[in-house]
Amino acid sequence: MSAIILGWDPDRRNHQAAVERVAATGLHLGRWRVGGQLDATAGTDVWLLLEGDRGRGLIGHGVVLPEQPDAGPPPSVSPQSAAAGPDSTAVYVHIAVDSLLPPGEQIAVGLLAEAVPGIPWEAGHPEGLGVEPADEEAIRSLWRNYGPPPGLDPTLPAAGTYPQHAVIRAAVNRYEQDADARRACLAHHGTSCAACGFSFEQKYGEIGRNFIPVHHLVPAALLGSSYELDPLADLVPLCANCHAMAHAGVATPRTVAELRRIIADAGFLPGATVTDEQLEAQRQARQLLGPQ
Ligand SMILES: [Zn+2]
Ligand SMILES: [Zn+2]
Repeated sequence: MSAIILGWDPDRRNHQAAVERVAATGLHLGRWRVGGQLDATAGTDVWLLLEGDRGRGLIGHGVVLPEQPDAGPPPSVSPQSAAAGPDSTAVYVHIAVDSLLPPGEQIAVGLLAEAVPGIPWEAGHPEGLGVEPADEEAIRSLWRNYGPPPGLDPTLPAAGTYPQHAVIRAAVNRYEQDADARRACLAHHGTSCAACGFSFEQKYGEIGRNFIPVHHLVPAALLGSSYELDPLADLVPLCANCHAMAHAGVATPRTVAELRRIIADAGFLPGATVTDEQLEAQRQARQLLGPQ
């Protein structure tokens, strides 16, 4: 068994605050009590079921984190009450919640029961419930259809939509993933690449509209704990190629001016066939670079 269902008690866990944290940082960390008989080893998929009478339903996905050796005893449970509980073998696990639907958008129990009838969705599961392997894909498929939309990078799968063995988690620069900052940046800088002028909409039409990665200009060494993002000064739109070249092989990303210079200097190999588009890209790069 490699997935479990855990309850989200809205009176004890602030749902809205957690949604905002996931939006801003990609993760909400929390601790859950899990029955000792459940397999909740690190890497186990977790599905979060909103409890209470304001509308039960599936609201989130997470992953069990490796044991935290210095986590200390749970604050809310004294040793006596834990020993006297219904399952004295219950353990506490840390969960990284990576995808969470906002209040009111939960996938309702009726829909869950229809798509995955083997799971008692209506019942409370105070210590978690194991999911049979046969039911896992059905839940993932529901999540693909009704879960939160995928993130800004369309090449990355939305959390919960792929089995754990098919994904790895990578660190990303969260300033480049912040949706509000990105909007402010694009409103100011436009949606063409600041280095080469490439426009996804011009090239790909409708599906490219408003699509452009944003690049965070501030070197990691300057990101102290008091750092606050300035979306106009610190973010710049770069096409996927220029973005890759800004980061390629360097710890401190290349500046936009450096990229323009590199593009203008690269030129073309003698004897190579140069398309009009390539010539145009080079002309644009030289123009952006200004007089030498
Ligand atoms: Zn970047
Ligand atoms: Zn570019």
